Amino acid sequence: METNTQKKQEGKIVKVVCSGGEDGDGHPKIYLTIGANEQSISCPYCGKVFKKSSAL
Ligand SMILES: [Zn+2]
Repeated sequence: METNTQKKQEGKIVKVVCSGGEDGDGHPKIYLTIGANEQSISCPYCGKVFKKSSAL
């Protein structure tokens, strides 16, 4: 029987997709994951910042 030790939910993981700017000169679509201990993440391509609170 497996024991899942990842049950703690101090924060939830948020996944976002970024494909660059809206002008069409973006970058390949990539998936970014905001970890449970992070509040935001910045896209390594375009530097756009995604925050958990503003997700959706
Ligand atoms: Zn980007």
